[in-house]
Amino acid sequence: LGTRISNALRKLQNATIIDEEVLKECLGEVTKALLQSDVNVNYVKRLRDQVLLQVNVESDAAGTNKRKLIQRAVVGELQSMLESEKKPYQMKKGKINVVMFVGLQGSGKTTTCAKYAYNYLRKGWRVGLVCADTFRAGAFDQLKQNATRIKVPFYGSYTETDPVKIAQEGVEYFRSQNYDLIIVDTSGRHRQEAALFEEMEQVEAAINPDEVIFVMDSSIGQSCYDQALAFKKSVKVGSVIVTKLDGHAKGGGALSAVAATESPIIFIGTGEQFDDFEQFEAKSFIRRLLGLGDIDRLFSVVQEAIPKEKQPELMNKISQGKFSLRDMYEQFQTVLKMGSISQLMSMIPGMNSGLLEKGNEKEGIARIKRFMCMMDSMTDDELDGKSSMVPSRITRVARGSGTSVREVTLLLEEHKRFAKMVGKMGKMSLGKANDMQNF
Ligand code: GDP
Ligand code: MG
Repeated sequence: LGTRISNALRKLQNATIIDEEVLKECLGEVTKALLQSDVNVNYVKRLRDQVLLQVNVESDAAGTNKRKLIQRAVVGELQSMLESEKKPYQMKKGKINVVMFVGLQGSGKTTTCAKYAYNYLRKGWRVGLVCADTFRAGAFDQLKQNATRIKVPFYGSYTETDPVKIAQEGVEYFRSQNYDLIIVDTSGRHRQEAALFEEMEQVEAAINPDEVIFVMDSSIGQSCYDQALAFKKSVKVGSVIVTKLDGHAKGGGALSAVAATESPIIFIGTGEQFDDFEQFEAKSFIRRLLGLGDIDRLFSVVQEAIPKEKQPELMNKISQGKFSLRDMYEQFQTVLKMGSISQLMSMIPGMNSGLLEKGNEKEGIARIKRFMCMMDSMTDDELDGKSSMVPSRITRVARGSGTSVREVTLLLEEHKRFAKMVGKMGKMSLGKANDMQNF
């Protein structure tokens, strides 16, 4: 979906004049893409009307760039589609919060329960996990393993076959100990579909959760809307977590889930590890969906990770498009400190270097450490870009760091690429980017 919409927007670039016809054609393609992703037709109509209205009103002003206007309007409307009017349940510390997870088998429920638990654990909450999936063999073991890894107490049974009973007992157990957050994982499959929904209703009635979270796999495509609707009809879905949004521009289904459940997305899952989990932000999401990168978020991540006194300097450099080997060294330090590299990289437009590819993180980290080792063998002037790396110096650095000429050359190439990217980001942060192709 993201690709199709951004293609439609990109076509605007090739049109010599932007007239009514070109605009309608572009919007036609955008709406078609949305409809085919099962986004509710009323939402799609609203998007179309809103964009037309905005463009017509604003383009009368002198000096407006119509292409940019249309792009901005489409992105803005997609964003508001994702921002459900309903507010998610507000977790209250100092009170017992009971949260029930629902979703089809394989959607990532059990994994997400652990990620969600971990998220609150890190904030100092007392969290307990309850396994009310008695259908799938090994369900309890899986939850137990996850819980043990993040050091969260769990409740479940190998012999009890009644999920309602376990859910009730588990919640009761953690309640009696005054836990802040009790998470109930449920089954996602049954011999018959109707039986699954019936079971969800019964579990819900038995534990009376403060919040029901619907977990949806973003890669299931067309069936998102129906699936979300089916759960919404049987239980009080209050919010949504979309999983498997790792790196690539998928996720049109998220729009459908919001439309079907009329509930906000609260988090997204971006991998199999416990910290591959992000607070949902509509703007970031849409921009990544359309492959526009995500400068705002990148800046906020950088801001969190870089010492305050260093920030103005770095931002300044980025906006001037300057990036020395020393800056790269510092970036690497930051990245190593923050752990999840692929997550950071997906925020950078056009960043798909094999160096930091998803699933290759261990290797990526080892390479980054080697690169830093090479940079340790360079002089200050070389690090600051005041003297260039001539072949004889490359040989020396390779020898000094116990690496090879080939590897040092690779580092320099990698640096060039980074610097170019930072140059682009600089333009963007100054608002000089004229269109999406410059991104
Ligand atoms: P459940 O049947 O709904 O409980 O789903 P599971 O939690 O067992 O997850 C099914 C599979 O999806 C497992 O292999 C998980 O590791 C994987 N998974 C869950 N969330 C994500 C995610 O955000 N990204 C990726 N790549 N895999 C995920
Ligand atoms: Mg499960």
